[in-house]
Amino acid sequence: MERLQKVIAQAGITSRRKAEQLITEGKVSVNGKKITELGTKVDAQQDEVVVNGVPINKEEPVYFLLYKPSGVISSVTDEFDRKVVTSYIPTEKRIFPIGRLDYDTSGLLLLTNDGEFANLLMHPKYKIKKTYIAKVEGAPLREDLKKLERGINLEDGKTSPAQVKVKKTDNNKNTSILEITIHEGKNRQVRRMLEAIGHQVIKLKRENYGFLHLRGLNAGEHRELKPHEVKQLR
Ligand code: URA
Repeated sequence: MERLQKVIAQAGITSRRKAEQLITEGKVSVNGKKITELGTKVDAQQDEVVVNGVPINKEEPVYFLLYKPSGVISSVTDEFDRKVVTSYIPTEKRIFPIGRLDYDTSGLLLLTNDGEFANLLMHPKYKIKKTYIAKVEGAPLREDLKKLERGINLEDGKTSPAQVKVKKTDNNKNTSILEITIHEGKNRQVRRMLEAIGHQVIKLKRENYGFLHLRGLNAGEHRELKPHEVKQLR
């Protein structure tokens, strides 16, 4: 048995705080009876929880780690019928990606049907470190990388300090491989940070998400997260 607000939040409809509000406002019923008491415990699988007249999804929560290939949309559907990340995971459950990777970025992406978990991980206060491997044009100067380490002004604000390492430089091709760790998730952030110091990104891959990594998976492959991994992320 779990608290009603948690079950509603877990169904992905809203945050736990908003769920509490919905309950106290009398917008929630359990097995046909209106519930306004916040402490009420329900069985997420057995009880019929209805919010604003709509029954919530009673699916068991599932958690997947996908090695997203490049050329795939981080979404559940696409208006242009391009391949979407959920198509790599055979499940009847209504999973969705936690955050997103660009169409042309590959790497580690989590998917779940647990809305509360997704909201939690995406909340800026969690500061989950994400490490990217970027192939860029040119050979960045140490002083330019220092700018990224201090934080750099993008049009939507200053980025938090990043950790940056040069892994390799290919003088013949005039390209470099960088490892960059950030904990924010601004749109196309790594690409824009590197462009801001004058280095166009040729290829981008997310290798780590917190303590999770891609080892053992090829592009397009996935695995379920282990219960202790889900617990550790919460
Ligand atoms: N930063 C980017 O620029 N793209 C991604 O997909 C993720 C982080």
